[in-house]
Amino acid sequence: MNSTDSRYIQGSTGPWEIVIGLEVHCQVLSKAKLFSGASTEFGADPNAQVSFIDAAMPGMLPVINKFCVEQAVRTGLGLKAQINLISVFDRKNYFYPDLPAGYQISQYKSPIVGEGEVLIDLPGGETARIGIERLHLEQDAGKSLHDQHPDHSYVDLNRSGIALMEIVSRPDMRSSEEAAAYLKKLRAIVRYLGTCDGNMDEGSMRADVNVSVRKPGAPLGTRCEIKNVNSVRFVAQAIEFEARRQVDVLESGGAIKQETRLFDSRTGETRSMRSKEEAHDYRYFPDPDLLPLVLEQAWVDRIATSLPELPDEKKSRFVAMGLSAYDALVLVAEKEAADYFEAMLKEGAEPKAAANWLNNEYFGRLNKSGLSIVNGPVPAASNATIVNMVGENIISGKIAKDVLDIVWAEGGEPRSLVESRGLKQVTDASAIERAVDNVIAANPDKVAAAKAKPQLAGWFVGQVMKATGGKANPTVVNAIVKNRLGLPE
Ligand code: ADP
Ligand code: MG
Repeated sequence: MNSTDSRYIQGSTGPWEIVIGLEVHCQVLSKAKLFSGASTEFGADPNAQVSFIDAAMPGMLPVINKFCVEQAVRTGLGLKAQINLISVFDRKNYFYPDLPAGYQISQYKSPIVGEGEVLIDLPGGETARIGIERLHLEQDAGKSLHDQHPDHSYVDLNRSGIALMEIVSRPDMRSSEEAAAYLKKLRAIVRYLGTCDGNMDEGSMRADVNVSVRKPGAPLGTRCEIKNVNSVRFVAQAIEFEARRQVDVLESGGAIKQETRLFDSRTGETRSMRSKEEAHDYRYFPDPDLLPLVLEQAWVDRIATSLPELPDEKKSRFVAMGLSAYDALVLVAEKEAADYFEAMLKEGAEPKAAANWLNNEYFGRLNKSGLSIVNGPVPAASNATIVNMVGENIISGKIAKDVLDIVWAEGGEPRSLVESRGLKQVTDASAIERAVDNVIAANPDKVAAAKAKPQLAGWFVGQVMKATGGKANPTVVNAIVKNRLGLPE
């Protein structure tokens, strides 16, 4: 154990281990709600998308949305999890102004999805396995609006009844980095699957973060749960703060109370919200309006065969093409980036060259301009053509960057641009020989120096590249320079 290991906090009594488990709510990508046909579209006027059932009008009966069930099963399969052919919807009873029924329909003892796993990618290139305990379906509540009127609060029920998947991890994470990596991986998986858009800033994905600390090797400590954290960065900050707070409490002789806490993103601190409720406080019981949910194995199997390639599999395939694990990881992190890369391959680009080009050139330019792979100005075919021209020795790597800049700013087809602007690489030895001879003739002192110190030949190569506007083939230049200076190859 070393003291810079982010999994340990150094306290006055020695190191402490951080233990983290995440409950992540993912809004199911579906046009209609879990038990009604009302729309789920984001950004509508308040209460514009509320059916009688979402408003809990007496006597209304819920009807399960088959597509939401299919989305939950698809997600479960993507988490390599057990799909439970029989699951049960329960009422979770509590009072809240934005919960008109007085209960939330959720799943408790018999969730639709059981144990699974997520592999997370850590900075050093290692991976770690995080256990999934369960995934269950439930309804979202409405939203109280406290900022619309000086002395009234309003309730917007648009969100009421929207399907959520709650994905519960095992307490398998040991640092804020691991929790961040888990959340990113989970988000990538649901985006690949098309079961949740993963937009944390719109609230489509939010995390309850459970944190405890213990002496290395000791049994699990008492946890605190930080509710509704809505960005990867905030999750990491909340963990850092909370773990440190718990160590301080324990080391000053106190005890951790199991409680629910809130994260304040302005101060980076967590504060107590309420003591933790226990499951029995909710008086869970099977919802009498809904029969147990029974799935056919054949239906589940059909969903399984329709799953897309997921990030881990894509990454392995990219590595098998010759990409470094790091390059492959960067590409698969966003499905759109992976698709773009594969579109370049379809245009004949060599995989390693295409990956280098994207990671070293194109993505950097996108970042700088605040653009993403989907709204960047250069089509995959154009980037492929540029990479191909370098491979065919038509342009040098340096000119390739210039061509990218031109296509970025003005558009156009890279091959005809190279042709019309005279950017082709000079491989013609006699033209290069002339350029080399000119530089040699103009710099007799440097010639003498290079003969004594052969590394100085590089200076001549640079001058020739400059004189030819970067168009000379550097390998040819190098050979001719050495030859003219009488240096060994
Ligand atoms: P609840 O819904 O009451 O919060 P769950 O059992 O559904 O309870 O979820 C508990 C979450 O807390 C899981 O993600 C689990 O991994 C995590 N967890 C359980 N025990 C600990 C602990 N000692 N330290 C940190 N996390 C924990
Ligand atoms: Mg919880």
